Amino acid sequence: MTGDTGGAGLDLHSHLEGRVRPATAAALAKQLGAPEPPSGWSAALRLERPGDLTAYLACVAASYPLLRDPDAVRRVAYEAVVDAAADGQAHLELRFGPATHVTDEHGLAEVVRAAATGVREGAAATGVPAGIVVAALRHHDAATNEAVARAAAAAAGDGVTGFDLAGDESRWPAHAPFAPAFRIAAAAGLGLTCHAAEAAGPGAVEDAVRHLGVRRIGHGAHLVEDPRAMARAADEGLVVEICPTSNVWTGAVDRVEDHPARTFLDAGIRLVLGDDNPVQTGSLLSGERRILRDRLGFTAAELVRLDADALEAAFLTASERRTAAALLAG
Ligand SMILES: [Zn+2]
Repeated sequence: MTGDTGGAGLDLHSHLEGRVRPATAAALAKQLGAPEPPSGWSAALRLERPGDLTAYLACVAASYPLLRDPDAVRRVAYEAVVDAAADGQAHLELRFGPATHVTDEHGLAEVVRAAATGVREGAAATGVPAGIVVAALRHHDAATNEAVARAAAAAAGDGVTGFDLAGDESRWPAHAPFAPAFRIAAAAGLGLTCHAAEAAGPGAVEDAVRHLGVRRIGHGAHLVEDPRAMARAADEGLVVEICPTSNVWTGAVDRVEDHPARTFLDAGIRLVLGDDNPVQTGSLLSGERRILRDRLGFTAAELVRLDADALEAAFLTASERRTAAALLAG
């Protein structure tokens, strides 16, 4: 189904916080007594113009008041899988930062369980394998992130499949402080990934590999600035999760045609695809795939290779991998 078309493939980089449907936001706001933004939820959640990281992060954060309730987290996780299935995706890895959504009433374990339950229910309803990737956040202290890792570890194999580091890389670029949290996640058998070189320079990739033990890199856009770092990434078989439209909206690249995906591929780097925050950017995975084909010159064979790398790199059990492969084959 996806070999030479704009069909969807596997989504290995997408955020729960970036998948709150505007209609769901309105319903949750009513339920939770949260104020309606003056311009309405569609305008509050959808970005107006690209190139502004601060506006991008603020737009994603517009949904945070609505996620301070585990039932809301569960609903958004469920709907994300339903939307992924409708988009033709063969697998959804849904990442989120639970520490942002805890309250005095609802702790980390409960919030993580809610998201895991939502994707399990979504997967059961659609037949599309899905898992939660729990994200530590750069602006949180080490103790908080280790508690996040323990909550993720407790739900490993029960809807939680991976562990990530997200947040403002330009302000908190170092990786060493997060090593203990990643050790906890690794010991629980979770897959590891890390946002790196999205806002910081190319050295962030090697830093993440060395300190956190990751083999998958979120975005990695600035890797393109250092040919030797690209060669090392290729030699080591690192997998870069690319999200072209998101990189335009955050200002990491000026135009989608300037995205380094083609350069990465030509350098021998393994690539997988994600839609990052599709409600904010208006582009789901199928749209990202069309961009690869129509604007970045990916051939049918290159898209097939992307699918194969995604199947191998995805945080899936053996049986889920077979299901995703069958969905890919159409
Ligand atoms: Zn991301």
